[in-house]
Amino acid sequence: MEVVQSFTIDHTHLKPGIYISREDKGFTTYDLRITEPNKEPAMGPGAIHSLEHLMATWFRNSEVKDDVVYVGPMGCLTGMYIIMIGKYSVEDMRQLTIRCLEWILTQNEVPATRPEACGNYLLHDLPMCKWESKRYLDRLKNDFHCEYTKLEVKLDDGKVFADA
Ligand SMILES: [Zn+2]
Repeated sequence: MEVVQSFTIDHTHLKPGIYISREDKGFTTYDLRITEPNKEPAMGPGAIHSLEHLMATWFRNSEVKDDVVYVGPMGCLTGMYIIMIGKYSVEDMRQLTIRCLEWILTQNEVPATRPEACGNYLLHDLPMCKWESKRYLDRLKNDFHCEYTKLEVKLDDGKVFADA
């Protein structure tokens, strides 16, 4: 089995920020790291689910909407993925995300929380979503990180895999 690229990132030295994790076939994957893995509590499932609805709504209504392929949560509940057509700089994504988070902080409801529109419509937590958004916003503005530390992984054939 091949090592999945994102598993080669050293998660023990990962600070909240925005990172490019993949560039392939004309698509760029951005990792929005919101909490510090294994050091801070991860987001609650309701909070990150609300963040997914709100963030997807904002990006899909923004000036870059035609290039937004995917907005979704990380399974570890520590961040979000955004996949874009083409390549935006990390700084472009930081500015877009700052505006998105500022908008989220003004919202009083989560879009599409009806059983017809959502696979688990009761699993939402807007207050905690806004709490996480506020903290991430402060970090994007004041303590921004965007360089991954690569972890070297030895493959079965002896090759070292360090390209994430
Ligand atoms: Zn949903």
